[in-house]
Amino acid sequence: MTADKTLTSLTYATDETEFFIPMPTGYQPGQTKYVAVFGTVMSGLGKGIFSSSLAKILQDKGLTVAPIKLEGYLNRDSGTLNPYRHGEVFVLNDGMECDMDLGTYERMLNQDLSHLNFTTSGQIFSSVLDKERRGQYLGRDVQMIPHVTGEVKLRLRELAVSTRADVVFVEIGGTVGDVENAYYIEALREMSYEEGPGNFCFVTLTYIVEPRILGEQKSKPAQLNLKLLNAAGIHPHIIACRASAPVTKKVREKIAMFANVPMQRVFSMHDCDSVYVIPEMLRGAGIDAAVIDLLDIAGSVNEKTEEEARRVWADYIARFREAKHPVTIGIIGKYTTVRDSYASIIQSIEHAAAAVGAKVRLEWIDSTDLTKESVADALSKMDGVIVPGGFGIRGVEGKIACIRHARETHIPYLGLCYGMQLAVIEYARHVAGLPHASSTEIEPDCPQPVIDLLPEQKKLEGLGGNMRLGAYDINLTAGSLIAGLYGGRECIRLRFRHRYEVNPDYIEQLEENGLSFSGRSPELPIMHALELSTDTHPFFVATQAHPELTGRPLRPEPMFVGLVIAALRRSGVEPDRKTIERLTAGDPNHPQTSAAADAGTT
Ligand code: GLN
Repeated sequence: MTADKTLTSLTYATDETEFFIPMPTGYQPGQTKYVAVFGTVMSGLGKGIFSSSLAKILQDKGLTVAPIKLEGYLNRDSGTLNPYRHGEVFVLNDGMECDMDLGTYERMLNQDLSHLNFTTSGQIFSSVLDKERRGQYLGRDVQMIPHVTGEVKLRLRELAVSTRADVVFVEIGGTVGDVENAYYIEALREMSYEEGPGNFCFVTLTYIVEPRILGEQKSKPAQLNLKLLNAAGIHPHIIACRASAPVTKKVREKIAMFANVPMQRVFSMHDCDSVYVIPEMLRGAGIDAAVIDLLDIAGSVNEKTEEEARRVWADYIARFREAKHPVTIGIIGKYTTVRDSYASIIQSIEHAAAAVGAKVRLEWIDSTDLTKESVADALSKMDGVIVPGGFGIRGVEGKIACIRHARETHIPYLGLCYGMQLAVIEYARHVAGLPHASSTEIEPDCPQPVIDLLPEQKKLEGLGGNMRLGAYDINLTAGSLIAGLYGGRECIRLRFRHRYEVNPDYIEQLEENGLSFSGRSPELPIMHALELSTDTHPFFVATQAHPELTGRPLRPEPMFVGLVIAALRRSGVEPDRKTIERLTAGDPNHPQTSAAADAGTT
């Protein structure tokens, strides 16, 4: 069914009408369907994982999907958020700094996203205030309803037009009942009315508690919180019950009865060993059929496409489950207490490990307390070491001590962003004859600043959205270890987020002493990746980029694959030759270079 005809034109709230339905050019109501996902009871239920899994099972059926995350906070983006509180900052190709859930969507859907897939209250309000200054509200007092909610609806419709998606997946950050996301929920209620029946599917996640003293699942907190959603004018079509163990029939019956949702649309979404098994879990529970039915899109389903997509995915899950060779990889950081701050790194290791047949155990090493003396002990069981991205001086000397130990004792090393800058400092100090080498981020008046601010950063003031952000090309040196990992490609494209770089004044001296900058920016003197010759070290690779942001289950990131292969060898296992050949043959799906992207080729 399409929407009420009186509502389908661009209508502004004026003296004549109360409707305010901003629509972008080319928008056809009814053409795009929407699935909105809410969370009740508490945050941290894995709405992003659920929503991306649901989007994936529809994508598998041949439908085009576009996710969007609506964040309640007033920051314009996630760039200024502390990863210790909010999880990692995920960066998209266009440089948008966003919530880590966007990473989950990209990995699950194997699809690149952009700023259109992410919005915050800060973006919504600043856009409304700009429009008010431009007189676009025709003399009306600008109100939360209809103008702010109208802005939200406009964003969703713009996404629909620009992606031509069959289904837009809207994930509302936070929990139902929060003040800051209430207007998003209201906007969705209005929009489902405007789009008409059959065009919106409301899904809510809820949480089933299981207090240890009772030893059984209880549904009351879920029941009460579902009523909050009803009070906001939304009656969910589907309820997914989060719990550690499968949710019992009895509990699901209670939820179904109190929430007026048919039993076959109340599902258990319990904990499992990998997020990538959730799509199949949802399919098994029949959620895909429920959504197809509610949105009346059975005609767009392609069963052949689905069969093939399921086969490819099942292959990944099988590799993940069958991987058996144990290796230990140490992650050296300062936020080691919160795993979310390294979510993409954990995922990229999982993808690489599954591809290679390794079962990786991660060891979290807090560098704050590490010294030259304690480092050998801390790294004694490591088959590989990663120093991830970071900022500021805390724990830096401990990280440098780790890198030195890894280099000198031939532990495979992968440095990511800060991990590359610190590797340069370590090499400069202990090999290249620059004993006072440091970064001006750590020591502003350092006498040998081998790492210094990027020239354009010297002019900037303030924080927020002004680092060197987004995807850039990296020219690789022919015959280098890194080029080999990427199948001999001359140019790759990875994502960046940094203010500092290798100081061009020291490149010659570092290279003369054996550090090879095998990845460079095509047009600027910016060093994008480095390595040591395999004659001197089995695997010593670092990059100014964040390859963890582009690792996907169906496209493991070569630098992580290289690390895991080297770690496996250190543990005494020689990976299967065919596997290595396949993995280093060059993946045509690897991120395109800008030139290839502009030409529309792979
Ligand atoms: N602090 C370093 C810089 O700004 C590294 C940043 C990072 O690791 N993301 O360049």
